[in-house]
Amino acid sequence: MFLGAHISIAKGLTAAVKAALEMGGNTFQFFTRNPRGGSARALIPKDIAAAHVLLAENRFGPLVAHAPYTYNLSSVKPEVREFSLRTIKDDLMRIEKMGAPNLVVHVGTHGGQGVDTGIRLIVEEINEILATIPAGVYLLLEQMAGEGTELGNTFEQLNRILRECGDHPQLGVCLDTCHMTGAGYDLKDFAKIKEEIDKSIGLSSVRAFHLNDSMFPVGSRRDRHAKLGEGHLGLEVIKEIVCDPDMQKIPLILETPNDNEGYAREIALVKKMCS
Ligand SMILES: [Zn+2]
Ligand SMILES: [Zn+2]
Repeated sequence: MFLGAHISIAKGLTAAVKAALEMGGNTFQFFTRNPRGGSARALIPKDIAAAHVLLAENRFGPLVAHAPYTYNLSSVKPEVREFSLRTIKDDLMRIEKMGAPNLVVHVGTHGGQGVDTGIRLIVEEINEILATIPAGVYLLLEQMAGEGTELGNTFEQLNRILRECGDHPQLGVCLDTCHMTGAGYDLKDFAKIKEEIDKSIGLSSVRAFHLNDSMFPVGSRRDRHAKLGEGHLGLEVIKEIVCDPDMQKIPLILETPNDNEGYAREIALVKKMCS
């Protein structure tokens, strides 16, 4: 199992690996730059090299980078789309240098333009991004709860984007237990949902998984994370997901409302579930 949490890399990649190790993790997620946008800090080759020694020694799974929330490939404003496109390209270059294979981006909000127009814009831009994507890295579209005009809440929409991008091998999906709940997928029957995922997106396209409980019930279209066992999912559902052999092949990332000590407790709890 590859299990970790969303942590800060403000003190560098090596410090982040150490923090992940301290909490008992063997992967983690980090923001590529300030989540509200802005410029990215310079990469330090020595720091990256030292981090990779630790990652190899401790048999870490693939790392996950998360793009800032300000990106929107389906924005009504052309300048926002242009900024998102340019910065995602830059983030992909950065994660390649960092040796982190996955970049998670929110699919986008259509802002009243409608689903079809939104998806058309996203497909155009993703195709442009994929034309210059570095080898060995993956762009992952995050499945969303469907708040407001959020796109990518249904497997059908995600599948449509993947297909219209020519099933590019470096384009994949990141699922989220809280977002799936919000979007109307009842994870109490995970076997059925997994089958649905496989029939639409394809399980092999799922390269990362956010593990969060949900403050709101199935179909609420709300995206509010809860600590594991303190939301509408509950520990039994979490257990079924994390102990699934297919899920154990991909990084499972906690984004629950916790500090690093809280993450350590949840990591210990999840590890115990499948032992
Ligand atoms: Zn996200
Ligand atoms: Zn969320």
